[in-house]
Amino acid sequence: MSILTQNAALAGLYEAHIDELVKKERLEADVIKQALENGTMVLLGNPEHPDVIPTLVGQPASVKVNANIGTSPLKNDFQCEMVKLQTAINAGADTVMDLSIGGDLDEIRQKMLSSTRLPLGTVPMYAVAQKYLDSDRDPADIQPDELFEEIEKQAKQGVDYMTVHCGLTMRGAEFATDGSRTMGIVSRGGSILARWMLKNGKENPLLTGYDRILEIARKYNVTLSLGDGLRPGAGTDAGDAAQWEEVMVLGQLAKRGLEAGVQCMIEGPGHVPLSEVEAQIISIKKLTHGAPLYVLGPLVIDSSPGYDHIAGAIGGAIAVKAGVDFLCYLTPAEHLTLPSVEDVHAGVMASRIAAQAAEACMGRPAAVERELGISRARKALDWEGMKTLALDPDMVEKRREEHKDKRECAMCGKFCAYKMIEEDPQCSN
Ligand code: SF4
Repeated sequence: MSILTQNAALAGLYEAHIDELVKKERLEADVIKQALENGTMVLLGNPEHPDVIPTLVGQPASVKVNANIGTSPLKNDFQCEMVKLQTAINAGADTVMDLSIGGDLDEIRQKMLSSTRLPLGTVPMYAVAQKYLDSDRDPADIQPDELFEEIEKQAKQGVDYMTVHCGLTMRGAEFATDGSRTMGIVSRGGSILARWMLKNGKENPLLTGYDRILEIARKYNVTLSLGDGLRPGAGTDAGDAAQWEEVMVLGQLAKRGLEAGVQCMIEGPGHVPLSEVEAQIISIKKLTHGAPLYVLGPLVIDSSPGYDHIAGAIGGAIAVKAGVDFLCYLTPAEHLTLPSVEDVHAGVMASRIAAQAAEACMGRPAAVERELGISRARKALDWEGMKTLALDPDMVEKRREEHKDKRECAMCGKFCAYKMIEEDPQCSN
């Protein structure tokens, strides 16, 4: 049955916003509708999130960029996270994920939901695990009902998409922990679930209770971001049995989701060598029936702490060209600490550059027009034009400030190549 027929919340969102989506994405309504029906595009937006901006994820809609923010037990400054939220919005993020694991998580989440119209994502497992870890209890003792109750509570609060690691199986966890991996399991949610399964000798409760999750997700049009609990955390682990075991299950779950009227995205790697990025993306897409693919990076090297936003953007550009739909940023703080406000800005910009690079080479009209427009403005020494078309207009203004009384910039001064040709009477004809 049609997803729009089964999912009333999605149908309402679609009907109310299709005209603006057509305009924004420069796509025909039929193209969008068909992609939603096929599960190759999702429309993020929980009607419980006040004034949410419904956001399409799935090429040929424009590639979207997500910024992860949120507290940690060691750096728990709620006000700072709110500044990061605004920084991510100002830098051009399309969505934000609240990954808080320190402090009053309900309060933080609700404040974020009321402070941004961008779709907000969460990982409900964190809130459940926090209760255990903060009281020195073993998260392997989590009761499955607690997970479903948390998912429902967050859906009611207005969360637009949720990472649920439903594809992590006992078999996958065993592959990932048999000693063959350099890094084992690097996902927070994945490691908690693997611990739960290994201690209890039972399958992943998010997998066995998937139908219950689907019921909640359909009611609130929560898009399920089917998590990659076994994503490779080192280049040497990319493409191993654990990763593919999980990807195959994720594909089955995305199909079940679509049949049940629930929108699903697939989360992807992770650390992947440059030479393997394209093959990974093509294969993941194939095994998951073309569902929107949401990747963390991918990081093409492991040795760039402090600069992982660059390693991630290199992988991200290749990944988008190979079919990725949604980039989760990495910041210079990755693998080191919680990102600062400046890190959030740098991370969003790096992912936006990756998306622009790929979309321009793929001939997407908006990206091509931006490239041509800024080149023309540059040749004309039209600084306002350059600022308007730059991915980061504030940066253009800031760097230009010192010499803004000059037509040329301080790089070459009187040697400015554009002025040299422009001022030559023989060249001006
Ligand atoms: S001064 Fe040099 S770098 Fe600056 S605008 Fe002219 S040619 Fe370009």
